[in-house]
Amino acid sequence: MAIIIDEKTCNSCGLCIKLCPGDLLALDPNTKKAFIWDNSDCWNCLVCVKHCPVDAITLKLPKSIAPYDATLTPEMRKDKIVWTLIDADKKREKFEIKRKSVGGA
Ligand code: SF4
Ligand code: SF4
Repeated sequence: MAIIIDEKTCNSCGLCIKLCPGDLLALDPNTKKAFIWDNSDCWNCLVCVKHCPVDAITLKLPKSIAPYDATLTPEMRKDKIVWTLIDADKKREKFEIKRKSVGGA
């Protein structure tokens, strides 16, 4: 898998850089936008994807799980995470998971 960072949406807050357990993210000194040094080192923990305050980071799913252009993006809400799956045909599917940190199952 790989992450994709939308430079237009990134607000340069640096949170993903602080949170990545693999220290794989940085701000480009020229654009001041986040980028990943090497996606092959990313172990898809989703910490950066889940915590980006402006939803600038998306997880790209591998062919073994979904067609190559499929992406998975979480929207963090107070009581749940709303995941959006977009497949290669741009078909959207949403599913929700209660957040355990607020007492969900
Ligand atoms: S957390 Fe999101 S907005 Fe902040 S630097 Fe990372 S990609 Fe950009
Ligand atoms: S998914 Fe995890 S390992 Fe990969 S860049 Fe984001 S925080 Fe780092």
